[in-house]
Amino acid sequence: MSQELYKISKSGFLKYDQCPKAFFLYKKFPYLRDPISKEKQLTFNRGHEVGHFAQQLFPGGVDASVDAKGANEVALKTQQLLQNNITTIYEATFVFNSVLIMVDILHFDGTKWNAYEVKSSLKISEVYVKDACLQYYVLKNALPLFSDLFLVTLNGDYVRGDDLELNKLFKKRNISSDAEKNLDFFTHKVSEINLMLEKNVTPEIAIGKHCFSPYACDFTGTCWKNISNEKSVFKIGKSDRDTLFNWYKSGQDTVDKIELTNEIKPHIRIQIECIKENKEYFNSLEIKKLLKNIGINSCFMDMEVWSPAVPKYKGHKPFEQLPFLFSVCHRKNGELNYYHHLISEGSNDIKAFAVALIYALEKFDNVVVYDKNLELQVIAKIESMYPEFSKDFEKIRRKIIDLSDLVQNFFYYNPKFNGNFSLKAVADILDETADYNKLEIQSGITAMYKYEALLNEPNPIIKETHKQQLIDYCNLDTLTCLKFYEYLLEKVREQE
Ligand code: SF4
Repeated sequence: MSQELYKISKSGFLKYDQCPKAFFLYKKFPYLRDPISKEKQLTFNRGHEVGHFAQQLFPGGVDASVDAKGANEVALKTQQLLQNNITTIYEATFVFNSVLIMVDILHFDGTKWNAYEVKSSLKISEVYVKDACLQYYVLKNALPLFSDLFLVTLNGDYVRGDDLELNKLFKKRNISSDAEKNLDFFTHKVSEINLMLEKNVTPEIAIGKHCFSPYACDFTGTCWKNISNEKSVFKIGKSDRDTLFNWYKSGQDTVDKIELTNEIKPHIRIQIECIKENKEYFNSLEIKKLLKNIGINSCFMDMEVWSPAVPKYKGHKPFEQLPFLFSVCHRKNGELNYYHHLISEGSNDIKAFAVALIYALEKFDNVVVYDKNLELQVIAKIESMYPEFSKDFEKIRRKIIDLSDLVQNFFYYNPKFNGNFSLKAVADILDETADYNKLEIQSGITAMYKYEALLNEPNPIIKETHKQQLIDYCNLDTLTCLKFYEYLLEKVREQE
């Protein structure tokens, strides 16, 4: 089929709702779209996997998207399936008034059709409701005997038994009455969009808070390209966006144009002054106070966790955060020594993980981490599962020293942070970024998905490769933490 049946897809509509310019660029200049990040792609993939799982709520259906090339063909195939009296259709696709929607599950109960839109989430957000209301608008107009639309999410209270019970794993919420009230809104919006497409002129919309809400726009590479000045106000972190945009709109678009009034909070002032003069901020007193607690017999630690949307093991809930890897590093006589523990064989052996962790840390006086929140959450989680380790974990808790306190409290600041205070930003100041770039895994989210891939991988050679990639990533996080400590220590010595 050559001619497109539709002009507005569901994601196109949501883009328009966020920013008409984003929709226009998406339709007319799709090549300007920013490359999709690995993390975003992995999150999409997870959404699809949960969608496939949910299809089994209505088993035996036919997938309209199989073997179809493009959305037009899926829409035509859906019509054929309806004519053939198929009563459950996955990826059912309809077009009305130039709008195309794809429904995860469409089911005929003998008298009427109901639609089910699956979200890989525990909660229903405003955007999900809007997205579902658009589907309702199209179905109401394009499908005779259509009755109700349900949003299907994962049930946070569900605890997995030996087998998955799909009817308990998923929750359905009927959003038809909300959608019914919004039918006129969609008619009006769709006319607005069609008019804009007819005019064929890029809407003049300046950058603003809408570039990040509800989603980070994928045209920032185009609209924000002139904001790359290294002294841009947008390099300031831990500031509310209103303040930054107010400065920007009033012509104070770089830090050297900002008037340093008394109202400016100390942590913003530190950033402005350091970015302006391209210098570090170093509060020797506070830094020394923290570093003096890190003795020679200290180790550096990092942990990785995953939170499977669909619980893989008995006794766990959807999205429950579970540890799978820790790495410990320490320097002895100039030599780096590493130790790690990875849960890798498909059983969720958290008890063995706990024993390995206690064993690895008991010989050290201090355990240095960067942002202790994750480690403390993991320890609390394991403790709730195995209270017999409480005393050991209490000892570990007392040993933990968090280097990120220095950064988060602005006792140390470097303009290279660019408003980001994570360990990866610290790696930038240590010139460690090149080491991360060499790795297959470069973020905690990618590590999480790689771990899922490891558990599902049947090939032992590929499995080993995944394992090594995870260990390399965790080791590098640990090493970065150690190098940051040594960097600060060196600075303290220089000042003495
Ligand atoms: S970057 Fe901002 S202004 Fe540009 S299209 Fe996206 S939301 Fe609109």
